[in-house]
Amino acid sequence: MFLPMTKKELWLQRDYGQSEAPAEVVGVDFVVVSGDAYVDHPSFGSALIGRLVQSLGFCVGVIAQPKKDADFCEFGAPKHGFLLAGGVVDSMVNNYYVSKKKRTEDEYSEGGVYGNRPDRCVDVYAKTLKRLYPDCPIIAGGLEASLRRLAHYDYWDDSVRKSILWTSGVDIVVYGMGENPMFDLLEYAKKGVHLGKVRDVKGTAYLASLDTVPKKVGQKLQEGGCKDLVVLPSCGQVSADKKAYFEAFDLSMQGMATADKTLVQWQDERQFVVVNPPSSPLTQAQMDSVYALPFERTQHPRYKERVPALQEVEFSVTAHRGCFGDCAFCAITYHQGRIVQSRSEDNIIQECESLVDKPGFKGYIHDIGGPTANFHEPACDKQAKHGVCANRECVGGDGNCNQLKVDHTAYLSLLRRARSIKGVKKVFVRSGVRFDYIMSDMDQAFLQELAKHHISGQLKVAPEHASDSVLKHMNKPHFATYLAFKQEFEKATKACGMAKQYLVPYFISSHPGCTIADAVTLTEYLKEINYMPLQVQDFYPTPSTLATTMYYTEMDKNHKPIFVAKKPHDKAMQRALLQWRLPKNKALIEEAYKLAKGVGTHGKNTATQTNTQSNTPSNTHPSTRKPTKTVTQAKSPNKSTLLDKAYGRPKAHKGKKVVNRVHGKKRRK
Ligand code: SF4
Repeated sequence: MFLPMTKKELWLQRDYGQSEAPAEVVGVDFVVVSGDAYVDHPSFGSALIGRLVQSLGFCVGVIAQPKKDADFCEFGAPKHGFLLAGGVVDSMVNNYYVSKKKRTEDEYSEGGVYGNRPDRCVDVYAKTLKRLYPDCPIIAGGLEASLRRLAHYDYWDDSVRKSILWTSGVDIVVYGMGENPMFDLLEYAKKGVHLGKVRDVKGTAYLASLDTVPKKVGQKLQEGGCKDLVVLPSCGQVSADKKAYFEAFDLSMQGMATADKTLVQWQDERQFVVVNPPSSPLTQAQMDSVYALPFERTQHPRYKERVPALQEVEFSVTAHRGCFGDCAFCAITYHQGRIVQSRSEDNIIQECESLVDKPGFKGYIHDIGGPTANFHEPACDKQAKHGVCANRECVGGDGNCNQLKVDHTAYLSLLRRARSIKGVKKVFVRSGVRFDYIMSDMDQAFLQELAKHHISGQLKVAPEHASDSVLKHMNKPHFATYLAFKQEFEKATKACGMAKQYLVPYFISSHPGCTIADAVTLTEYLKEINYMPLQVQDFYPTPSTLATTMYYTEMDKNHKPIFVAKKPHDKAMQRALLQWRLPKNKALIEEAYKLAKGVGTHGKNTATQTNTQSNTPSNTHPSTRKPTKTVTQAKSPNKSTLLDKAYGRPKAHKGKKVVNRVHGKKRRK
């Protein structure tokens, strides 16, 4: 049974045996309002939160993609509040291409039809709700609210916007994953507390003034902050000064890594945002119970056309959350956190078994994974007690931390059990895999079984670039690691007799720090392997990632100046270089090559585009370079990882300190 979308559905669910709801408002405790169509699947945050709240004994209604006032008023004023989310994706990313042109489709709407959600969805919906129900609390969650909780650079405005708490007027933002904050808020609701006034729940943020802030916080703030209350540069300061912007970003990342820091940022002369410390990760038992809620796993029957995003997830299973990858361009770590939280194997297998009887299931489980498929368990034992390191990276360009546990045993065991379920023909791994982590494993069983059982013809991987200098900015492993993985993958594929199986590498153009010479390096590699991506993934400065901060400030993570391709022509050249075979790109490519050699007509540009931070000449072909420091793990001196075999045995870094910043917690596969 779906969560009701109308009064009539609610009435029927209450089993009063009448086909029509009474004219008066049927009371609900909460109303979920979402910018997406209602798909009752745990991959859709609004459905998950709605189900969770319902499971704790509250009555919940759903309003999806409202347009008119009447849509917002379907259930009247809920007893405890509106739970508002822009959708799975930030509404601006959902509505616009990186070129800032309007998209033609919306994956999260019925029939993929564009135009069912407004730009800045949370702001628009919240203002309407406040106008209609001024006294009813609004609690906003999801990516759009979470990543915009502090003042942030907004690519579409090309300026710094104030916190979404200020622009939208919502009472509370739940940031990160919402379950634990919701548990606490629901305890208050049970006691009859007005949720708009709750100020002490971890994982939430609110707007306050000195008159309204809790006494303790106000006192510390007036004293200029302390160890557990950090005052960030104000919105005015970060708008006027890019160094201040980076400093605020670093402090907010530090706040995410600790369990006890409250952050405060002034938005104007009178009001400031208070970000309470992050909530704890879910325990395995909590994860199990959340994913065992009675989801219908499909779209609400009111929709005649299919919601395209359902296709990806309908026969896929989430095994875990969180990611310790720290890719600069990805917001997942900032939103889900660096501590991986996994469901139990039995719980996941039960969900896999339940798929077998679902209509439309043809024997294929499309994915069992998470943000990064093979980051299935926490990065190290220390995290359980002390959380993640604020000033160290677990994996990435500097190599693995020496505390990192590299072990695919649990994930492999899960995949083995899933593929032996009666009625299941194949289990694919479609979530991104970190090939550097695979290469760091002493045991090659995962790669062998991945190649043999879990690839549907193509394994998509994300080296993201071929220039080590760009990869360093992205916090991705050296390109040599990818090349070594490619060899091993091909060997494993051959060994298991899967001749028609390929690696499909993803690359990003115009990432901050990528000069035209770096882009040419990538083209040279693509030419060598005779490969041209069909689509170019141009860097998209989405809210609150490290890479977006680099894009805006034109500084690297150590606050040193870098080149950023911002001008349309510079970006067009980098895009053209990826699609080097297309005749229409010929002129741009010739120009790019001239620029990269420093003999082009844009003499000045050539100078600015020379990356002085690379240790290797950017236009030297990567496959001819001697591998620099690569990844490995420090344990078991008598055993070798695949990388050891390929390149000798480099040392793991000992948790290298990153000066003056806490490293970005974002990634994307
Ligand atoms: S940097 Fe190392 S010690 Fe710190 S959380 Fe990551 S793996 Fe653990």
